[in-house]
Amino acid sequence: MAKVLIAGAGVGGLSTAHHLRRRLPSSDEIVVFDQSAVHTFWPSLLWLMTGTRKETEVVRPLAQLRDPGIRVIEAPITAIDAETKTVVAGDQSWTGDALVVALGADLDPSLIPGLAEVPGNFYTLDGAHAVWRQLQDLQQGRIAVLISRAPFKCPAAPYEAAMLIDGFLRKRRRRPAFELSVWAAEAAPMAVAGPQVSQAVVDALAHRDIHYHPNQTVERVEGKTRHLTFHENANLEPYDLLAYVPPHRVPQVVSAAGLAPSDGWVAVDRHSLETSFSNVFAIGDVTGIPLALGKPLPKAGVFAHRQGEVVAEAIAARLLGRPSSESFDGHGECFIEMGQGLAGFARGNFYAEPTPTIRVYRSGRHWHAGKVAFERQWWSQWW
Ligand SMILES: Cc1cc2nc3c(=O)[nH]c(=O)nc-3n(C[C@H](O)[C@H](O)[C@H](O)COP(=O)(O)OP(=O)(O)OC[C@H]3O[C@@H](n4cnc5c(N)ncnc54)[C@H](O)[C@@H]3O)c2cc1C
Repeated sequence: MAKVLIAGAGVGGLSTAHHLRRRLPSSDEIVVFDQSAVHTFWPSLLWLMTGTRKETEVVRPLAQLRDPGIRVIEAPITAIDAETKTVVAGDQSWTGDALVVALGADLDPSLIPGLAEVPGNFYTLDGAHAVWRQLQDLQQGRIAVLISRAPFKCPAAPYEAAMLIDGFLRKRRRRPAFELSVWAAEAAPMAVAGPQVSQAVVDALAHRDIHYHPNQTVERVEGKTRHLTFHENANLEPYDLLAYVPPHRVPQVVSAAGLAPSDGWVAVDRHSLETSFSNVFAIGDVTGIPLALGKPLPKAGVFAHRQGEVVAEAIAARLLGRPSSESFDGHGECFIEMGQGLAGFARGNFYAEPTPTIRVYRSGRHWHAGKVAFERQWWSQWW
């Protein structure tokens, strides 16, 4: 009887577990570990923070996964031994024939003085709620969407957040009373996808009168007086509502295991997702996959999901003694919410050289409907 351990029950972990379950005999064990009792569909946080979703619509208990052949251990992983494929969670340790590390990126607002005291981290459930509460109460003022550091997961999300806030205010006829800005620690939106995609996002922001300030690295946040200080800018920038993306870093348990440097990400084979340890794979946001243009593959659920399928096939093939032809090829797509029932869409090959080849599709209501349909499918496939 074989045992596969999957660290993390997020997008990549659940994708791996379900694809493995279909391939392995029921006598083989699949064990998934997560520190959280619930799975969150992260893209829906943008709708929660603008009032079109409730918390019960964006999370599901892991204990209610439909497939009884996937064992879920709800406990924080405190240590990983990659050599022996051992995971320590709670007060128990587990050793498997293969290990998949899908622990995502840790969010750490404490890396920027003052940021952690501000309740607008919309990359968490609490922070998205906090933005929604403030949006309802505020009658006028300055709203700042802040990208504090790169890389961050879902390169589109903060731009979508700004456009959804704009749409919410327009619907309530309150938009003229607000100044809406995006302050970004990056040179252009979604730059890995190429200048055409960046320009499309910049144009969409301008069309909505959202001020875009690229290349701005926040140094400090004064929560009491509501000011931002940037490295590149001598002015104190005032805000009334701050919605922010915090700095991301590799989970400490992953760097302690020797799988990544503490200031980096897990290196993997770009096609098989295997680490330097045999039968230890890493997928999703925890990885750093360099692209030919000198930037890494973006951190996005679409990649974590597909990588989970590839790794599941590779592990099943090895355990069953058959060849595997699956390989992660860098293809991905992304809906870009634009508010007022509109969305854009981009799709392409991020592994293409010398630069990714991405096609941008004209925005429309159908892409928004597509994102809603994807959300519905996400929940119905496993719960
Ligand atoms: C607001 C927002 C909108 C987004 N929109 C999109 C989108 O439209 N399209 C898209 O492709 N991507 C989107 N993303 C990004 C996407 O959600 C992530 O890229 C994806 O979740 C990565 O999957 P993962 O499995 O690598 O990590 P995660 O899904 O983050 O899962 C990691 C899991 O590991 C667990 N974990 C971490 N440390 C430990 C530990 N020590 N012990 C036990 N468990 C642990 C966590 O609890 C978590 O469940 C969005 C993200 C956000 C925040």
